[in-house]
Amino acid sequence: MSNQRIELLAPLTGLIVPIETVPDPVFAQKMVGDGVSIDPTSNVLVAPANGRVTQLHSSHHAVTLTTTEGVEVLLHIGLDTVMLKGEGFKALVKEGDNVRTGQPLIEFNSEFIMKAGKSILTEMVITNGDKIAAYLPANGFARAGLTPALTLELVDLAAPAPAATSDAALSEPVKVPNPTGLHARPAAVLANSAKTYKSDVKLVRGNDEGNAKSVVSIMGLEVKHGDEVRVKATGSDAQAAIKALAELIRSGCGEDCGPGVPAPAPKPVMKPVAKKPHSTDPNVLAGVSASPGLAVGQIFQVKQDVIEVREQGDNAQVERRRLDDALKEARQQLEALKAEIEDESKAEIFAAHQELLADPDLLDIAISGITNGKSAGFAWRSAFTTYADKLAKLQNEVLAGRANDIRDVGRRVLRLLAGVKEAELIVPENAILIAEELTPSDTASLDRTKVLGFATTGGGATSHVAILARSLNIPAICGIEEAVLQLANGTPVILDGTKGTLRKNPSQVEVTQIRDKQAALAKKRAEELASAMHPAITRDGTRVEVVANIGGLDEAKQGVELGGEGVGLLRSEFLYLERTDAPSEQEQTQIYSDIAKALGTERTLVIRTLDVGGDKPLPYLPMPAEENPFLGVRGIRLCLAAPEILRTQVRAILRAAPYAKLHVMFPMIASLEEVREAKAVIAEERAALGITADIKVGIMVEVPSTAVMSELFAREVDFFSIGTNDLTQYTLAMDRGHPKLAKQADALHPGVLRLIAMTVKGAHTHGKWVGVCGGIASDPLAVPVLLGIGVDELSVSVPAIPAIKALVRKLNKADCVKLANEVLQMGTAAEVRAKLATLVD
Ligand code: PEP
Ligand code: MG
Repeated sequence: MSNQRIELLAPLTGLIVPIETVPDPVFAQKMVGDGVSIDPTSNVLVAPANGRVTQLHSSHHAVTLTTTEGVEVLLHIGLDTVMLKGEGFKALVKEGDNVRTGQPLIEFNSEFIMKAGKSILTEMVITNGDKIAAYLPANGFARAGLTPALTLELVDLAAPAPAATSDAALSEPVKVPNPTGLHARPAAVLANSAKTYKSDVKLVRGNDEGNAKSVVSIMGLEVKHGDEVRVKATGSDAQAAIKALAELIRSGCGEDCGPGVPAPAPKPVMKPVAKKPHSTDPNVLAGVSASPGLAVGQIFQVKQDVIEVREQGDNAQVERRRLDDALKEARQQLEALKAEIEDESKAEIFAAHQELLADPDLLDIAISGITNGKSAGFAWRSAFTTYADKLAKLQNEVLAGRANDIRDVGRRVLRLLAGVKEAELIVPENAILIAEELTPSDTASLDRTKVLGFATTGGGATSHVAILARSLNIPAICGIEEAVLQLANGTPVILDGTKGTLRKNPSQVEVTQIRDKQAALAKKRAEELASAMHPAITRDGTRVEVVANIGGLDEAKQGVELGGEGVGLLRSEFLYLERTDAPSEQEQTQIYSDIAKALGTERTLVIRTLDVGGDKPLPYLPMPAEENPFLGVRGIRLCLAAPEILRTQVRAILRAAPYAKLHVMFPMIASLEEVREAKAVIAEERAALGITADIKVGIMVEVPSTAVMSELFAREVDFFSIGTNDLTQYTLAMDRGHPKLAKQADALHPGVLRLIAMTVKGAHTHGKWVGVCGGIASDPLAVPVLLGIGVDELSVSVPAIPAIKALVRKLNKADCVKLANEVLQMGTAAEVRAKLATLVD
């Protein structure tokens, strides 16, 4: 026997739009409820069914009807229209009225709403979804009060509960490959993917289970590297959910998990069991380094303001709406904050905060508080503090550190609910901030003209606050001794972010020395910046192109601002990582064209084709685990093995040709066959698209065979760019990321330098240019040698551009040639370094 169905008619005349496409996550993610949206052509909202008006929003932009079957239908006119505070809306009913299908409820002025910059997309959603077994939305054009817009199948309360196994599924156990387990980032990838399924999805580890759609709940399980987990799903798409999610976990949830899964387990970052650092010097307080650098200043203690909220709420629907509005506003604030932070990866911290705002578990606790008569503020506070406390107790330091993020985002919403503004910190000049905890929001909004550094008793080097401090270049210490909280405001101190120490009562001599050093460095930086737009020409007239290594549009723009003469390496893989499907041709065309436009037709743009595989897996391109991923199917090998990926990318790159001096570059080339095959792809796609622009094609020199045979390669390509990071690892047979080999895997090893020299010689024989885009190009010590060897272009990290250009201007090419000849004869990297150190001022 089938369940009872009811039909809700369209509340407005217009086009029915799927709720998932509404440009407001509160509706699109069905946080309020499931249903439909209507793009209206009429302006009188009518009742979709017989019922009673159980809530009329004070701004008259929304009304809830409870149908005779007990279904609560929220009708919400427009998006963000609560901000209009009732203007443009006229209620035609009041709370408690019984209404009949088609009866006018609210009249509104669409023109006024649109002029106020708001969308008039109107949502009809069910707020008590537990009563609904299935939603059957209609589509197409609907007439108000006449056309069914949403059919609901009600839960059959009389029916016996479905057998637990009928639509339940459990995956095979999966070993978690992530080196630090399921911390915030993989948890977010997993939760996002889980949310795309209708089924209830749980992550199970042993006897514990958590909601797989909730980042917080996943983190709460504290899943470590090598733990076995299962995915459990209950619902219509349970089988598909367990299959895809188990696979996602197996592949590392978008995270780089290193070689084959059962690798020796890296130790999770555990909270130190031992006591915090402690200094024996009475004048020094010790902590851990969170962000390097020195600062001389005076203590300023920061205390967190207390946000008062009422315990008892008004009616539950009113409180629920308050919570939804505050969450939405907080989301917008975070969007603005993200836009202010230039570094994309740091802006992601606030994207993660936005994610937390949609966390179903967090919302469930808050909503259940509201249902129990609490105010939105009270319920929200208990929800986020419960969660933050739970995380803070975890042993894994990375996960425990996220408690601070939850408190941060929690207080942001709480302030909105309580109607209080964040108390503005009035900070004195030369302040060293001291606090138990600073939040990422506090850190991002610090007044850099006054705050020179900070120290917190909580947190650790992996906390988001520490990451932000590093990106903002503020020296900082976390986990410092609690005695710091007793220091009086105004106490003079030296904060050493590198060592993680705070020295009280420094002598005047010490202070002066540090200040002099800082002033000299600042002066040098200012001079470099002032001349950043001038070309990099040596004293004896050799011009060297100084260009940028970038990962996206923001860095392209910053590079130009800092005097970059183009882009020598766009690491296009950033577009492909941390997502669950490949970027489309259109998406890629857009980003490559935007980057090209940011550079303009006078600057070079070298786009490297996808360089993943091996140690950088793509979740959507399943690959067998490899014993030696650095020697496996990576770079061009992977692209030639999955040609559609390469062809799609090549087409997108070619379409950006009109906007900059476009260069395509293939990574990890080891043989001439690879070059020929990859060039054929370009030629074919170019012909198919009818693109005639002059597009240069080059290769990365990262494999010794290519350096040795550079003369042969130079006949077939337009340019070389030497990737010294990989060239060093393959030449010396030392993993570039190996912590113990970091010092020895030195690009200044004479063996590597000789390969660079061979590459340059081979290229110049055929009139081709050579760049260096590995880390060595940004190292002032190495630049004179590279110039002496004859490198034509240096592609450096964006912040290094002004300093490298200034350095080139100080050099004499003839001297560099002599120097290069000398070091190329040396036997060890140490000798090379010792020689170069004598030349640094
Ligand atoms: C290199 O190997 O030097 C290089 C620039 O490429 P990546 O660091 O992206 O591997
Ligand atoms: Mg490389």
